[in-house]
Amino acid sequence: RDDVDEVRVAMTAERKGLTIIAIGSGKGGVGKSTLTANLAIALSRKGRKVGLVDADIYGPSQPVILGNQGEKPVAHDEKLVPVASRFGVPVLSMGHLVEPGRAIAWRGPMAAGALTQLFEAHWGDAEVLLVDLPPGTGDVQLTMLQKFKPAGAVIVSTPQDLALIDAARAGQLFDQAGVPVIGLVENMSGYACPHCGEHSDPFGQGGVEQAAGRLELPFLGRIPLDLAIRQGSDRGDPPAASDEAVARPFIDIADRLDA
Ligand code: ADP
Repeated sequence: RDDVDEVRVAMTAERKGLTIIAIGSGKGGVGKSTLTANLAIALSRKGRKVGLVDADIYGPSQPVILGNQGEKPVAHDEKLVPVASRFGVPVLSMGHLVEPGRAIAWRGPMAAGALTQLFEAHWGDAEVLLVDLPPGTGDVQLTMLQKFKPAGAVIVSTPQDLALIDAARAGQLFDQAGVPVIGLVENMSGYACPHCGEHSDPFGQGGVEQAAGRLELPFLGRIPLDLAIRQGSDRGDPPAASDEAVARPFIDIADRLDA
C-alpha cells in the first residue's frame, strides 16, 4: 500500500466541480511557489474564483508569499476553512498548521493525512485550485498526482541545462500519472541591471522555450529575474497584485492558461 493512500481528493474535487491545476518543477529553488502564488492572483484579477493548496508540505512558503503567516485556519464541520489572503485567493498550507520555521519531519502516512485535509476543505465557490507541488519527481509526487488527479500541470524551470534536464523529468512524471502538461514557464529569464540597465542572462536564455519545442509542449512565457519579485515575495506583497510592469509576465501567463 502506498503512502498517500489516504488522499481521496480526486473524488471530492470532482464532486465540487473544481478544476485542479498542479504547478511542478524538477527541482527546488526555481520559482515554483512564486509562480503558483502570482498565477493564482493573476487569475483572480481576471475574475476567476481561485483557491491555492500548498502541497509542498515539507517546505511550505505560501504563507510568507501571500502575507498571511501566523494565521490559523478554523475548522467547521470537521473540515478546514481556507485562510483568506489580501489578494482574493484563499489558501491552505501546512505552514498555517505548524509553527513558522519548525521543521516538518512527518512520515508518509501522516503527511498524506495532512494533505487530505488541505484538499477536502471548505473551498466554497472556488472554480480553480492551483497546487504548489513539492519539488522533484519521486514516488511521493507521483502518488500525490494519482490521488488528486489534476486536470493539467504547469512545469516551471530556469533556463540552464541542469534545470532543463530536471524539467524534462517532471514532464515524464506527469505523463506517468496521466496528467496532461499544459505548458512550460521559464523563470529567472534574463536580468536587467537596475543601475546601468545592462541586460545579462545569468542562467542563459530561451532554454525552456527550446526544451518545450523538443518535448512538443506549449511554452507559456518567461518571467525575468527581478529584484522586485524577490523582495515582494519576501514581504508578502506578491508582484502580480501590483499595477506595475512587474505584474505583466504573470498576467500574460494567466491569460494563456485561461484561454
Ligand atoms: P521553489 O518553489 O521552486 O523552491 P521559490 O518560488 O520559493 O522556488 O523561489 C526561490 C527564491 O527565488 C525565492 O526567494 C523567490 O523570491 C526567488 N525568486 C523566484 N522567482 C524569482 C524571479 N523571477 N526574480 C527574482 N527572484 C525570484
